[in-house]
Amino acid sequence: MRLSRYFMPILKENPKEAEIVSHRLMLRTGMIRQQSQGIYSWLPLGKRVLDKVNAIIREEQNRAGAIELSMPTLQSAELWQESGRYEDYGKEMLRIRDRQDRPMLYGPTNEEMITDIFRSSVKSYKSLPLNLYHIQLKFRDEIRPRFGTMRSREFLMKDAYSFDLTQADAIHSYNKMFVAYLRTFDRLGLRAIPMRADTGPIGGNHSHEFIILADTGESEVYCHKSFVDFDIPSADTDFDSVDGLQSVFDKWTSVYAATSEMHDEAAFDAIGENDRLSARGIEVGHIFYFGTKYSEPMGAKVQGPDGKEHLVHMGSYGIGPTRLVPAIIEASHDENGIIWPASVAPFDAVVINMKPGDEGCDTTCDRLYVALQNAGKDVLYDDTDDRAGTKFATADLIGVPVQVIAGPRAVAAGEVELKDRKTGARETLTIEAAINKLTA
Ligand code: ATP
Ligand code: MG
Repeated sequence: MRLSRYFMPILKENPKEAEIVSHRLMLRTGMIRQQSQGIYSWLPLGKRVLDKVNAIIREEQNRAGAIELSMPTLQSAELWQESGRYEDYGKEMLRIRDRQDRPMLYGPTNEEMITDIFRSSVKSYKSLPLNLYHIQLKFRDEIRPRFGTMRSREFLMKDAYSFDLTQADAIHSYNKMFVAYLRTFDRLGLRAIPMRADTGPIGGNHSHEFIILADTGESEVYCHKSFVDFDIPSADTDFDSVDGLQSVFDKWTSVYAATSEMHDEAAFDAIGENDRLSARGIEVGHIFYFGTKYSEPMGAKVQGPDGKEHLVHMGSYGIGPTRLVPAIIEASHDENGIIWPASVAPFDAVVINMKPGDEGCDTTCDRLYVALQNAGKDVLYDDTDDRAGTKFATADLIGVPVQVIAGPRAVAAGEVELKDRKTGARETLTIEAAINKLTA
């Protein structure tokens, strides 16, 4: 992408409305624009990052055996009357009437709809286990939308729903998502800690919030420090192995971790002073086993091996991609701007032409731009007439992992400079060597 032809409306000043660094940086870099309170457009730079986050979420959901579909944002009130949640949901739900005066709503979540899809076509235990997910917009009329897309009213959610014949099977489905979440957040460059969450009347140990530690987080969290060293399950994890997944779950839940709602002062105090951590955190995911809470009122049953009808055991599993993007920035930035983990960076590299119009600079930059693109890299080419200082500041601000700097003196000697955004380390290489390094 040539910067001169791109749409990246950088702000020179710090926007006053932004209270936290991620919100400030997302506005300054032109990633998002607020359209009305808590409702955002994702501009091209932001959209690139969001797409990469979604791609990682999708890969890990698929790896764990979940199957993607797509459900609408608008739902009929009828389904929610069946489950009893139409009245319960309160003011967070945006209720709408269509031209026939039928009550509709903008979905805040999809348990009812997926249960309806399930009951309409699945009749036998032989079709189980089943886990269906989508990545779709939700609307919750939050009382205090704030911090940009961290807590917005319209937001994206990956929501998966599992269906099983028995509670034991449902726990295995739960563990699959538990492992998928550990892998997902790790690939996004984050250390997320699963913390016990309230399960309400169902009880048990099967609701976890995945929390990222950050000073600007809205939750108060308490945990053992050892989480930092726990191993992330590998890509070749056998998701069909009941014992294998259970042992990962057991390990990751073996030490204390809780948000303020579930906090147990005595258990926390029992941890040695040096090993405990009380901090603030951002909830980026939430997984939940809720048994027959929806299958019962909505009549979602399958025929079991015994020939009888059984209510299915369900779970739901949410991740917030539009919250994850600012959460990644909270975890990875410096005074000059964002530092993207390579896995979600909007571009892999930025080629900076220090003197457009100079034949050597232009030829070198064109060559780099083409070679990197042909190798499948996402490249931003700063071919603008901006001053060198502005170009460097922009490259730092938008946080692309590698900057390839082509100045007249260096290119005359057949060289370019590579700068690592994270460490600031610079090295001078021949053009050939730079291409080899960046496409390796
Ligand atoms: P919170 O306690 O932050 O309001 P929640 O418990 O209501 O979250 P869930 O219903 O479990 O959230 O939704 C699953 C995921 O969706 C959350 O873990 C979060 O990542 C994301 N999410 C929820 N509400 C919002 C929001 N208003 N803006 C952005 N993302 C959200
Ligand atoms: Mg909420």
